[in-house]
Amino acid sequence: MSQFEIQLDDLESSPVELDFAPETEQLEELFEAFADEFVVDSEAPFHVDLYVMLDGTSIVVSGRASGTFHYKCGRCLQDRETEVDASVNVTMLTADEYRETYGGEEEISLDEEDLETTWYEGQSVDLGPQVRDAMLMELPAWPQCPDELRDSCDAAYEEHVGDETLDRLEEHEVDLRWWPLKDIDLEEEEEN
Ligand SMILES: [Zn+2]
Repeated sequence: MSQFEIQLDDLESSPVELDFAPETEQLEELFEAFADEFVVDSEAPFHVDLYVMLDGTSIVVSGRASGTFHYKCGRCLQDRETEVDASVNVTMLTADEYRETYGGEEEISLDEEDLETTWYEGQSVDLGPQVRDAMLMELPAWPQCPDELRDSCDAAYEEHVGDETLDRLEEHEVDLRWWPLKDIDLEEEEEN
């Protein structure tokens, strides 16, 4: 059973606090889909502290999750790491209630300040995805070196991507971009 899982039966009698350090395997599995950009550091401390209660049939989750992630700077391509401390605030409606409330709307736009609303099904609810999503929200969309490493970032950038290389990359990019179009044109001409 996932360490992130809670049982509805337990919640019905009293709120549940999940205060734990996830096992390496569970962490890696949880963040696997994002490993191209951010790799969770399973050696560094990772801490989840959630307070979970029932409000009618809705599950209300609040708390924090903190951990360390590795990434490559998008500019100098050096390996960097960042610590994330995210607040987790989610209200989980039953699937039926969620459909009644939000049915038809493809996606609800929520401000970051708003509590996030999602749904659950069954007697056993996995809070892993809620923790993961809250942490991903804190990670940068365009990961770069932190400001204090800016000088090193600039130096590495210039070293790896000199003017010449940059020119070649740009030419290459243009070539790649036009390549599929060239193919299509040629095929069409042959057919005609
Ligand atoms: Zn950098």
